[in-house]
Amino acid sequence: MVEEKVTRQFIEEKLATEKEMAWDPQKKGEIFALSERFKCFLDAAKTERESVREAERFAQENGFMLLTELQEKAANGEIQDVMGKKFYHINRDKNIIMGVLGKEINKGIKAIVSHVDAPRLDLKLRPFYEDSDSTLAFAKTHYYGGIKKYQWLNIPLALHGTVVKENGEVVNLVIGEDEADPTFVICDLLPHLSRKTQGKDKASELITGEQLNVLMASLPFIEEMSKEEQKMFFTSLKKSVYFHLLKILYEEYGLIEEDFTTAEVEIVPAFRARDLGLDRGLIASYGMDDRVCAFLSMEALNEIKNPERTCAIWFADKEEIGSEGNTSAQSRYFTNVISDIVNLYEPKAPESYLWKILNESHILSADVSAGLNPNFKEVYDMKNVPKLGYGVVMTKATGARGKSGANDANPEYLAQLRQIMNQHKIKWQIGEMGKVDEGGGGTVAMFLAKSGAEVVDCGPALLSMHSPYEVCSKADIYELYRFFKVFMNEL
Ligand code: MN
Ligand code: MN
Repeated sequence: MVEEKVTRQFIEEKLATEKEMAWDPQKKGEIFALSERFKCFLDAAKTERESVREAERFAQENGFMLLTELQEKAANGEIQDVMGKKFYHINRDKNIIMGVLGKEINKGIKAIVSHVDAPRLDLKLRPFYEDSDSTLAFAKTHYYGGIKKYQWLNIPLALHGTVVKENGEVVNLVIGEDEADPTFVICDLLPHLSRKTQGKDKASELITGEQLNVLMASLPFIEEMSKEEQKMFFTSLKKSVYFHLLKILYEEYGLIEEDFTTAEVEIVPAFRARDLGLDRGLIASYGMDDRVCAFLSMEALNEIKNPERTCAIWFADKEEIGSEGNTSAQSRYFTNVISDIVNLYEPKAPESYLWKILNESHILSADVSAGLNPNFKEVYDMKNVPKLGYGVVMTKATGARGKSGANDANPEYLAQLRQIMNQHKIKWQIGEMGKVDEGGGGTVAMFLAKSGAEVVDCGPALLSMHSPYEVCSKADIYELYRFFKVFMNEL
C-alpha cells in the first residue's frame, strides 16, 4: 500500500503536522494596508449600530443595492438576470446582510456569519445620580457580556449611544472619542487604602457590578442670584451637581432625564486601535471580538465577482449575551432574507424549497478564539492551543465540559475546507478553548446549524480576549481574509 520509503525525513515532512508561521515578508505591503483599513473600521465602529452604519456606507460606496430595490427591479423586469448583483439588507440598524448573487440557487449558498456586539457597560435606564458625600455625579451601568470587571477601572471611557425621544426622534451620542471631548472613568481605590478592602479578594470580587459607576460631573449648578440668595443656596447644595449634569444634557444634546429610559447608551474604552510591538506585527484595540471577522468578511466579499453560488455575510448582534432577541443569530432574520433571495430565482417555490437550499448551504461561524498566553500556560493543552501568528484557527467544537453547547462540525466539511486552504497555501491551525474542563465558551455556530447547513467555527486567535484592549496578529488577519475569499470563490 505504501510505496515511498518511510525515512525520518519523510515522517518529518509528510506525516507529522508541524505548523509554520503565517508571516510572508513578500506580502508586507498588502498585509499592512489591510491592517490600516481594519484599524480605521475599529475606531469608527465601537458599537453594533456603528458597525452596521460603517458597513452600510461601505456597501453604498461599492455598488451594493438595497435588497428591496433589487426585488422591485426584478419584479418589474428591469433586471433579467440577477447573477452577480450585489445586495444588502439592514435589520433594526443592528444587523446587516450583504451578498453577491450566484449563477444558480439550488446548490445552496455560502455565508460568513460574525457578530458586531462586544462586551461593554450599558447605562442603566435611570443612570444618573449624585453622591451626596462627595458631591460628584455618576452614571450607573449594567455590564453586557462576559467581562473581568476590574479591567474597566482607571481607563479612559467614551459614551456611545442611541436615545429615542418620546416623539420618535433619534439622538445619536458619541462623547469621548475626539481629543477635544471630555472623557469618563470608573475610579478604583488607591493602593494605600486597599489592604483591607481589596487585599484578600479574588479578581472577580475586586469590584461588583453595582460599583461600576462612571464619573460624569463635578461642578455645581448655580443660578445667577444675589449674594444673599447664593448664601442660602450653598446651604442646600444637595443635587446641585446632578442638576448641572441635567442642564448640560438638555442644553447640548436636547435630552431630558426620562429620554434615557428609552435609550441604549454604551460605555466603551476611549482608546484607538494601535500597532503593537516594535515590529508592528500586532494590533491592539477594543472590540476585535468579533469586529475582526465582520470587517474581513466585508473586505473579502467585495472581491467576489459572479460566483457560482450566492455568497453572503451577516453581522449578527447579541452573541455576547447568548444570541437572544430579534437581532440575534437565533432570530429568523437571516432565514427571512435568504427566503427573499431564493424567491428571486424561484418565485413560486414552496417553503420546503427554502429549507432544502439551507440544508445544502455552507456557513462559516467566523469568530475569534483564545490564543496561547505564555503567562498562563497551565490553562491550555499545548498540543491543541492556537497561537498568534499561525493563521486561521479552525475550531471543530466550542462549548464547555463534554462539548456541551457545541456545534461539533462534521469532518467531511472540515476536510473540504482543509483541502482548499492547503491548495491556496493558507496558513491554518486547529484550536480548542483551553484544557478540557478548564472553562469554555460558545459562538453562533449551533444556532446557524439548526437551518441544516454545514457550519464550522473559524477566526483569528486573540490575546486578552474580552478585555478593553485585545490583541491580534496582522499575519493572521491577512490569512483569514484570504481564506474568506477562497471559501466564497471555490467551495
Ligand atoms: Mn465572539
Ligand atoms: Mn466574545
